[in-house]
Amino acid sequence: MNAQQPHDLYGTGFSAREVPSAAFPVEGMPAYAARYLIESDLALEGDPARNLATFVTTWMEPEAQTLISENLHRNFIDHAEYPRTAEIEQRCIRMLADLFHAPGETTGARTQGSSEAIMLGALSLKWKWRERRKAAGLPADRPNLIFGGDVHVVWDKFCRYFDVEPRTVPLRPEKYTIGPEDVEPHIDENTIGVAAVLGTTFTGHRDDIGGINDLLVRLKAERGLDVPLHIDAASGGFVWPFLYPDTAWDFRLEQVRSINVSGHKFGMVYPGIGWLVFRETADLADDLVFEENYLGKTDRTFTLNFSTGSAMVVAQYFTLIRYGRAGYEFVMRNMQSNAEALADRIEALGRFEIIGRHDEQLPLVAFKLREEQDYDEFDIAWQLSAERGWMVPAYTLPPDAQDVKIMRALVKRTMTLEHVETLAADIDGACRTLEAKGGAHPRERQQVVTGPGH
Ligand SMILES: *Cc1c(COP(=O)(O)O)cnc(C)c1O
Repeated sequence: MNAQQPHDLYGTGFSAREVPSAAFPVEGMPAYAARYLIESDLALEGDPARNLATFVTTWMEPEAQTLISENLHRNFIDHAEYPRTAEIEQRCIRMLADLFHAPGETTGARTQGSSEAIMLGALSLKWKWRERRKAAGLPADRPNLIFGGDVHVVWDKFCRYFDVEPRTVPLRPEKYTIGPEDVEPHIDENTIGVAAVLGTTFTGHRDDIGGINDLLVRLKAERGLDVPLHIDAASGGFVWPFLYPDTAWDFRLEQVRSINVSGHKFGMVYPGIGWLVFRETADLADDLVFEENYLGKTDRTFTLNFSTGSAMVVAQYFTLIRYGRAGYEFVMRNMQSNAEALADRIEALGRFEIIGRHDEQLPLVAFKLREEQDYDEFDIAWQLSAERGWMVPAYTLPPDAQDVKIMRALVKRTMTLEHVETLAADIDGACRTLEAKGGAHPRERQQVVTGPGH
C-alpha cells in the first residue's frame, strides 16, 4: 500500500470497499485498519448482555481478564516447559473431585468443554466394558449406551463417531427427564454405561439420578451386571453443589464412575474450558492414556486435542480460589432469586405456564403459552428480538414430546432484578404487538434464535 493514499492517511479507506472475504488477500493492511474493520463487523453482533439463550459465560472480572491476556502465549500441552500450568490443572481437578465427593485419589482431564469431556469419558466406558468382556471370553462387538432424549447432541455424536449403538429413551408430553423405569428395559450385557443429565439444556431439570443409581446397584446384585453411570453435569455441576447440596447425584452414589462439567458455563469462565473427573484412577482405561517422558518424569496425557491455550485453565483456577464454596453459593443464590422473580412476573402476565418451577432446576425460566393463540412461542421470540434485542430462544422438545413448544430464559450473573422487570415487560409488549396484529406475519414465522443446545 502506498503511504500517500487517502485511505492510509484517514484510516478508514476500507469502509467504502468490500471486506476481504474469499480470496487470500494479495496485500495486507495496517494493523489499526484490520482491527477497525473487524470491530466494525462485530458491532452488528447481538449484545451478549441480552443473550439469554446461551449457558456460556459472557462476563468475567477485570482481574480475570488480565490473567487471561497474560496467559495467551503459552501452549497448555507443553507440560515440560510449563510445569506450573500443568500443576494448576491438577489442582482444579482435585478441587472438583472434592466438590463432587470423590472417595479418594482420582484422576481427570482439562478439556475444551463438556463435549470433549464426554467423548473421553464415554470412550473410557467403552474401553472398560471391552476389557470386562474380553476377560470373560465374551464378544465385544456390539456396545450400546443408554440415555434419555433430554441429552445434548454430543451423546449422539459420540455414538456415531465411535460406533456405539445409542439406546435413546424417548421423552413424553409432561415428562422431560428420565428415571430408572425408562432405563431398565434397555440394559443388557452390552451396555457400556448409562448417561444421566444434571440440568438439561431443555428445561434445566435433572434426570432421576438417585433412582437410576439404585436400579444399577440392584442389577449388579441380582444379575451381576456392573453398569457404570456417567453424569453429564455440563451445567449442573457448578449449580447443584451450591443450591442443592443435600441431593446426591455425584460420587456419593456407588455407580457414578465419571462426571463432566463445563467450566465455561456456571463455572464462570469464558469459553473453552471443560472438565472430566473420574471416581477413582482405575475408572480411566489405561489404554487411552499416552505416556511421554520429560525431565525424567512421566507425563500421562488423555485428550482429543493437543495444542491449546493455558489462559482458561488459569482463569478456572482463578474463579475457584476467588469465589470458593461461599462465593459460588452467593452467586448461584442471586441467580436463583432472579430466576424466581422472572418466573413470578412471567406467570403474572397470565398468558404463560412455567415449566417445573418447583423442582430442582438450573437458574433459568422455561415457559410456554397456556393456550393456543394466533401466535406461538417462535413468534414471541422473533418479536422480542426485533423490538427489544432480547435473545430468548423458542424450540420444540425432543421426541416424543416434539409437539411441546417452549421458551427459555437463562438468568445469569449479569442479569439484575432491573433486567428481569424490563424483560417481563418486554415479553408482555411483544405479545401485545402480536395480538394487535392478529398474529405473526408468515415471513416472521421462523426460528430466529435457535436453541437449546448451547
Ligand atoms: C452445554 C452442554 C453440553 C456441551 O458442552 P460444551 O461445554 O458446550 O461442549 C453437553 N451436555 C449438556 C447437558 C450441556 O448443557
